[in-house]
Amino acid sequence: MIRVDLHLHTTYSFDAAIHPKTIVNQLNAHPSIKAVAITDHNTVEGYHKVCELASPYEDILIIPGIEVSTTGGDLLVLGVAELPPKPWTVENVIDFTRDRDGLVVVAHPYRAYGLGDLARNYDFDAVEVLNGISSPQANKMAENLAKTMGLPGVAGSDAHHMDEMWTVCTEVQASLDVNEILTAVKKGSVRTVLTGKSIHF
Ligand SMILES: [Zn+2]
Repeated sequence: MIRVDLHLHTTYSFDAAIHPKTIVNQLNAHPSIKAVAITDHNTVEGYHKVCELASPYEDILIIPGIEVSTTGGDLLVLGVAELPPKPWTVENVIDFTRDRDGLVVVAHPYRAYGLGDLARNYDFDAVEVLNGISSPQANKMAENLAKTMGLPGVAGSDAHHMDEMWTVCTEVQASLDVNEILTAVKKGSVRTVLTGKSIHF
């Protein structure tokens, strides 16, 4: 079992201030979370930078990801280090990701830029049911959505600033390997965790 943050932004997102080096240092020092998906808005540049900086460390894992601003709302693409071609409709992003064996997760469905009930019209792999910067009410609604759609629920901090990091994570029945993690998420071998953020850097 490993703990993963499946939603994290870097300075390569227009609205985020977490430097790639900070992510690598903190992940390396973290007592339990050892993997993160870098999910910048509409770019994989931050992912590549974090990967490069993480390469000397053997016990941390960086998962490729993108938070795509689709015409229907935000989607997390996991396991793909390539931007889908426009137009970014929900259908196009799902097809693009499936062709590359990645996962498509509905990001914070009941917050601004979320898909909301529209998500029910599509075939997703998981729903983000615990988002670190969403309200408990919005997360509760997301959990209901996942339940009624019969989809696994995952957690991600959605941190844009340092003080938002490591607040929540997803426990995955997998080892420190991208394919194992994605397969386990798809199967629903996951549990969401509020960390209580008991550590201080
Ligand atoms: Zn985000």
